[in-house]
Amino acid sequence: MAGMTSSERPLLNRRLAEFGTTIFAEMSALALRTGSINLGQGFPDTDGPEEVREAAVRALREGRGNQYPPGPGVPELRIAIAAHQQRRYGLSYDPDAEVLVTAGATEAIAAALLGLLEPGDEVVALEPYYDSYAASIAMAGGTRVPVTLRPDADAGAFRLDLDELRAAVTPRTRLLLVNTPHNPTGTVLTRAELTAVAELAVERDLLVVTDEVYEHLVFDGAEHIPLATLPGMRERTVTIGSAGKTFSFTGWKVGWVTSTPALVSAVRSAKQFLTYVSAGPFQYAVAEALALPDAYFEAFRQDMQTKRDILAAGLKDAGFTVYDTAGTYFITTDIRPLGESDGFAFCRSLPERAGVVAIPNAVFYDHREAGAPFVRFAFCKRAEVLKEAASRLKSLAA
Ligand code: PMP
Ligand code: GLN
Repeated sequence: MAGMTSSERPLLNRRLAEFGTTIFAEMSALALRTGSINLGQGFPDTDGPEEVREAAVRALREGRGNQYPPGPGVPELRIAIAAHQQRRYGLSYDPDAEVLVTAGATEAIAAALLGLLEPGDEVVALEPYYDSYAASIAMAGGTRVPVTLRPDADAGAFRLDLDELRAAVTPRTRLLLVNTPHNPTGTVLTRAELTAVAELAVERDLLVVTDEVYEHLVFDGAEHIPLATLPGMRERTVTIGSAGKTFSFTGWKVGWVTSTPALVSAVRSAKQFLTYVSAGPFQYAVAEALALPDAYFEAFRQDMQTKRDILAAGLKDAGFTVYDTAGTYFITTDIRPLGESDGFAFCRSLPERAGVVAIPNAVFYDHREAGAPFVRFAFCKRAEVLKEAASRLKSLAA
C-alpha cells in the first residue's frame, strides 16, 4: 500500500502526517492546469528593480557568492540588514553577532522554532496562520495554541482579542509567534495590540518570534511597528524579514533574523544543519537593495496600495464582503453574500466557474469552522490582470 511499509508502519513521520501538500503548490498547479488567473499563491507577476537584478548578475559574473558564503551570511548583507533596522526603526544590531541570513523567512521560522523549543513546549500563534508555522512547530515537537483573529464590524477588519491572547498562555507556553502585517487577513497590529503582546511576554517571561516580512507593505498611512522596538522586547524577540516581499524577488529566498547574540546563536545552531548556507550571489544583490533610497520603498508601497484598491473594488462589485487590508499582498473576503459558506468547495470550483484561483483561509486554521467562509485573494499582480480577474468574478453575481 502506498505510504506504508510491509509492517504497515506509515512511511511519513507522524509529526508531518497531518500536513499533506501545501495549499500554495496545490492551488498554483490548479491555476496552471485550468489556465486560470492565479490570485492564490502570493508572488508578484513582475520582477523587482532592474538595478537589483543587475546587482545579482554582477555578483555572479564577478564570482562573489558562487562558492559557499559564510554561515551567518555575507558581511555586506549583514551590515546592510543592521543599517536598515537602524535607519527605519532606530534598532541597533551588531552585524556579526546579532544578524543571521537564512534561506527565506521560511527557514528563519523553522530554525527559530527548532532552535528554541523543547518537545511539549506550547507556542501561541495568531490564527489564521501562515501554513509553515504549524508544520515548523510540529517538526520541533511543540504544541500550537491558536488565538483566533475575528472580523470586527466597526473596524471592517480582523482584530486580535487581547483577553483570548492572555487566556491562551499557560505555564507550558515558551513562545509567542506573531505576524504583522498579517497573512492572510491583511491586518496590521496596532500599537495598543502590540503593547499588550509585549506586556504579556514580559510578564510571563516568554520568547517572541515575529514574522515581519510585509514590513514595507503597509497602506493608508498605517505604521508598521516592529515588536522589538517596544519596552522589554529587544532582548526576547527574534525578528524575521525577507527580501522576497520587499523587493519582489520571491524566488531568491533571502531572509534574515535579527536578535540578541544568544537568540541568534540558537537559531543558527538549527539553521546550519538545514541549508547551512544559500543564495550566495543574491545575498550581495539584496545588500544593495536594502540601501535603495526611501523613494523606492514609498513608490513600491504606493503601487501595491493601488493594486489593492483595484482588487478590493472588483471583489465588492462581484458581491463579496471585503475586509480592509492595511498591509501585505492579500485581501480576505467572506463568500456568504454570494450564497456560499464552504471556502474549500468555493475555491475548488472557482477555476471552472470564473477562471480565477484563490486560497481558502480554512487551511490556516485549527478551528476550521471559524475559517470556513473566508477566501484570500492576492493583489500583487499587474493592474490589467486584476481588472480581468474582477470582471470574471463579476459573473458569479449574475
Ligand atoms: N511569512 C509569511 C507571513 C509569508 O507570507 C511568507 C510567504 N510569502 C513567508 C513567511 C515566507 O517567506 P520566504 O519566501 O522569504 O521564505
Ligand atoms: N507566502 C506566500 C503566500 O502566502 C506563499 C509562499 C509559499 O508558496 N510557500 O501566498
